[in-house]
Amino acid sequence: MNLITISPGHYLPGTGFHDLIDEVTEARKVVNRVVQLLRVASVGVIQVVDNTSTSSAQNLDYIITHHNKTSRKLDVSIHFNATSGRHDTGIGTEVLYQNDKMRSFANKVSQSISNASTLRNRGGKKRINLPFLYNTDQPAIIIEVCFVNSTVDVAIYKEKFEEICIAIANELIQFVKPGHPMIKMIPQTMSLEVPNVEDDSNSLELKSILDKTISTENFTESNLIDQLEEVLTNHEVIKRMIEKGISENTIDDVWLEKFENGLLTTSDLFGLTTLMVAATLK
Ligand SMILES: [Zn+2]
Repeated sequence: MNLITISPGHYLPGTGFHDLIDEVTEARKVVNRVVQLLRVASVGVIQVVDNTSTSSAQNLDYIITHHNKTSRKLDVSIHFNATSGRHDTGIGTEVLYQNDKMRSFANKVSQSISNASTLRNRGGKKRINLPFLYNTDQPAIIIEVCFVNSTVDVAIYKEKFEEICIAIANELIQFVKPGHPMIKMIPQTMSLEVPNVEDDSNSLELKSILDKTISTENFTESNLIDQLEEVLTNHEVIKRMIEKGISENTIDDVWLEKFENGLLTTSDLFGLTTLMVAATLK
């Protein structure tokens, strides 16, 4: 079940703040890493990335629409901030919220990022004019990781990237699954058994008990992905589908064995169900 939907702010690199670092590029890196960490912690997460908009109005519409298409308990957007000019002092991290119910959570996320990184804690900030906060249907926050025009902030961000991502992931987990075990620092040499989301050109990932993640690039409707997720995450339903095919003599009983041994792939299942439906047409 998906619990969190998260997106990096803006659309293509260069469309957000840009100084010592590029807001969009870095926001995407943070989102990718937080999503990986959440998956390692088995917390359902959907990532929305906008690669198609050509204006900020379109972009806000894209992000909000795609967030609202997903079922989840929390909407999160990752941004970086800027002031005018360049600063050699630290400015810090802050978390934006609109609904007063989100104030303590926003404060907590900001404090955790600060504790994990030494970025100055600017705390939760109430904003009543941000479409992401007032148009998403679930409790929402915008995390402004740090300021792209502060040499101190950017140096800390680069050095403490992993700590910052872990702090964010842990706070999001505690919001949607209170008491869930916290993610600890993972040694960099240890590779993570998670799908690579680096070049995720599509905004949604479909998780299944068969394959860990199904590429959703070829799906043209995210509604279909949501519906499929209910089936593909349900062991009993898949088993009964295969048993039905076997009892109707459409598919060989080796497929049930394969499924029970964890060897059935999602492509196998789609192939088998196509055969089963085709057989009913004869
Ligand atoms: Zn931004």
